[in-house]
Amino acid sequence: MSAIANAIEQYKQTLPNGVELIAVSKTFPKEDIEEAYAMGQRHFGENKVQELTDKATALPSDIKWHMIGHLQTNKVKYIAPFIHLIHSVDSQKLLETINKEAIKNNRTINVLLQVHVAQEETKFGLLPTELYQLLDSQEWQKLTNVRICGIMGIASFTADEQQIRKEFDTIHQIFLTCQKQYFANAEYFREISMGMTSDYQIAVEYGSTLVRIGNGIFGKRYYQV
Ligand SMILES: *Cc1c(COP(=O)(O)O)cnc(C)c1O
Repeated sequence: MSAIANAIEQYKQTLPNGVELIAVSKTFPKEDIEEAYAMGQRHFGENKVQELTDKATALPSDIKWHMIGHLQTNKVKYIAPFIHLIHSVDSQKLLETINKEAIKNNRTINVLLQVHVAQEETKFGLLPTELYQLLDSQEWQKLTNVRICGIMGIASFTADEQQIRKEFDTIHQIFLTCQKQYFANAEYFREISMGMTSDYQIAVEYGSTLVRIGNGIFGKRYYQV
């Protein structure tokens, strides 16, 4: 078995029920995705619109594509026809653009709100107070073709496990608060996207439902994006 096939098998066997494996294929070639696909993997994540649309065009149409990187409003139209889930929504304006493009494509687009809890200033996402402001405004309620399915977050890039635990716990608490205050009757508000190769096991302990694994499946990336 190839290293990719073997890794997919390992993750499938060890992830608990209810946790979806998203294979983060950014920077890796289509052949690598095909290997994972042959093992039954269907959820793939990318962080750049151009790369995402190129791969989606060339690869089987039953792949569920996840946009996990920062998304500019002027690029939403390229992914709106097919995207399965956008993890990285960080503004009302982006929500409105996604809604508009979803209407044009006669579909509903599922999204997550990205919350910033990490120590690094470079990470995108809404601060918790901004997240609650956005939801408090109720403007999102008017958007007929976008469905907010949960919360996404990234922990600090650190070897300090206690810090990572603290941040995943915070994301989980934010999810619970949102669920109670804004989505009490919405069964679809149930996703917590957190955990990458180095920290997914901790993320799962804190209630992650979507783990985003790149290096652990495809090997080392030789350039950082
Ligand atoms: C690249 C990336 C991942 C995957 O990271 P690995 O360390 O390769 O598992 C997960 N989430 C986001 C947002 C990413 O950009």
